[in-house]
Amino acid sequence: MMAEASRPVGSAGVDLHVHSDRSDGTLTPGQLVERAAAAGVQMLALTDHDTTDGLAAARTAAAALDLELVDGVEISASWRSQTVHVLGLWIDPAAPALREGLARLARLRHERLAGMCMRLRRLRLPGTELAAALRELPGVPTRTHLAAALVRAGLVRDIGDAFRRYLGHGRPAYQRTLWPPMEEVVGWIRSAGGHAALAHPMRYRMSSGARRQLVAAFTDQGGTALEVVSGSHPGQALEAAAELARQYSLSGTVGSDFHDPALPWNPLGRLAKLPPDIEPLWARA
Ligand code: AMP
Ligand code: MN
Ligand code: MN
Ligand code: MN
Repeated sequence: MMAEASRPVGSAGVDLHVHSDRSDGTLTPGQLVERAAAAGVQMLALTDHDTTDGLAAARTAAAALDLELVDGVEISASWRSQTVHVLGLWIDPAAPALREGLARLARLRHERLAGMCMRLRRLRLPGTELAAALRELPGVPTRTHLAAALVRAGLVRDIGDAFRRYLGHGRPAYQRTLWPPMEEVVGWIRSAGGHAALAHPMRYRMSSGARRQLVAAFTDQGGTALEVVSGSHPGQALEAAAELARQYSLSGTVGSDFHDPALPWNPLGRLAKLPPDIEPLWARA
């Protein structure tokens, strides 16, 4: 870790949520780190879905640059049978409970992919071939990978089309997955010495009452932060997320949720400021 003095003041230069090709991003960890540094990011967390495989390569790339790399992960979890995403930040990726948990998630993801491919087969699409192509890919399979395979096979126009027609929530190839309970996931992160932050809290489809209950449960379970500023939040969400953080005395994090330079809506490191009355998580880490 770099000297305290070079740490960012305020949230400019901080991006604590990005994806590499070890999950559903398009850049290698090294390319991602270089692009972030060029965009002025001083503190970057690599947070791939359910895997820490990219962290070593990202750390190697960061060593040559003026950039503090934070070891992270974005873990799929269940709360009242809804999917939520929990960021683990400043984790030790070698911690046994975390490693075992992520191994379990990898198995779940492979089973889920097989299930979605079977549904595609029932729709008279080449599910078997798609499944075989995805087995060749490194890292954990996500719906984005299956969507990209459908695009490559010429069966849909683009990734968005694949989600709209087949893979989105409630669409015919969608398979509900019971991810591990949020409480367990927060436990893995804490036992790996990390901070748990609830990712994009305003993106979950639920009533405002349910959202408060979610944040209350997350706080009780040992979560320490909310992702108040998120590139995958709708524009007006920041103030509502900030209000939740104040109400439950949680710290705040900021993250672009960057996946792909070709997607212009969440570029690296270009984020709204964390409101000054909210304690940044990096002040505690
Ligand atoms: P999974 O975790 O396997 O369910 O995959 C979810 C990933 O798919 C998310 O992290 C997004 O990157 C991507 N995604 C979800 N919904 C859409 C959509 N409607 N269009 C494009 N990408 C999506
Ligand atoms: Mn993703
Ligand atoms: Mn997410
Ligand atoms: Mn993400």
